[in-house]
Amino acid sequence: MARTVLVTGGNRGIGLAIANAFAAQGDRVAVTHRGTKAPGDLFGVECDITDAAAVDAAFGTVEKELGPVEVLVANAGITDDTLLLRMSEDQFTRVVDTNLTGAYRVAKRAASKMLRARWGRMIFISSVVGLTGGAGQVNYAASKAGLVGVARSIARELGSRNITANVVAPGFVATDMTGVLSEERKAEILGNIPLGRMASPEEIAGTVTWLAGDAAGYVTGAVIPVDGGLGMGH
Ligand code: NDP
Repeated sequence: MARTVLVTGGNRGIGLAIANAFAAQGDRVAVTHRGTKAPGDLFGVECDITDAAAVDAAFGTVEKELGPVEVLVANAGITDDTLLLRMSEDQFTRVVDTNLTGAYRVAKRAASKMLRARWGRMIFISSVVGLTGGAGQVNYAASKAGLVGVARSIARELGSRNITANVVAPGFVATDMTGVLSEERKAEILGNIPLGRMASPEEIAGTVTWLAGDAAGYVTGAVIPVDGGLGMGH
C-alpha cells in the first residue's frame, strides 16, 4: 500500500537515498530542502527545521499535494565539531536546535494527523556517536542521544494508536558530512569498523524502509545500529 512519506533533509546524502528508496517502492515522497529544490522527480518543500512556522507550512503543502504524512523520517542534521573547552554555547545550541529540537518540531506536527489516521511511522536518524560519544562532538552526541529519548517517549505515548517511533543509528556513511574529515581521521575511524569500510547511504535507507513497512509493524522504541559493527557493545 502506497504511503505519504516526508523525509527532512531529503535533498541530498542519506536523506536522498531514503527518499529514493521509498519512491522506488511506489510511495508518495516529499523531501525538505533549503532553497536548492528537490533532485529528480521528488516533491520538494522548502523548510528550515529550526523554524516552527516553516515546518507547519511545509506540512501544509505536503498534506495538500500528497495527503497527510504517514511516514516521517527525521533525517536533517548538522555537525559543528570542536573540543569541549573551545565549544561556544552558540555552537552547542545550534546543533541541538537543528538535530534534536528540529526532530521534535516535525514529530509534533506529524503526530496530530497520524493520531487521526490511527496509523503512523516515525523514524529518527541518530548516530552511533549518540550512544558511544565522540571526542569533539559534545553538541552532536547530545543531540543524537536525545533522539532516543524522543522516540521512546513517543513510542509510549502513541503506541496505542498504532504509531511506532524508532531510531536508526548509522555509523560512518559516505556523504558530504563525512567528506570534510581529514584522510587521517577517516583512516582512524575505518580502523575501528569491523566491516572495514564506510556505509553507502543506500545501506541506511534499507533499514528505514523496512521500519516503515508492514514487516516491522511490531517494532517500536528500538534503536537499530547500521554501523558495520563500529558501536558494538553499547
Ligand atoms: P549531509 O550533510 O549530506 O546532509 C544534511 C541534510 O540535512 C541536508 O539535506 C541539509 O539540507 C539538511 N539540513 C541541515 N540543517 C537543516 C535545517 N536547519 N533545516 C532543514 N534541513 C537541514 O548529511 P548526511 O546525509 O550525512 O546525514 C543525514 C543524517 O544522518 C544527519 O542527521 C546526520 O547527523 C546523520 N548521520 C550521518 C552519518 C554520516 O556518516 N554521514 C553518520 C550517522 C548519522 P541543505 O542541503 O539545505 O543543507
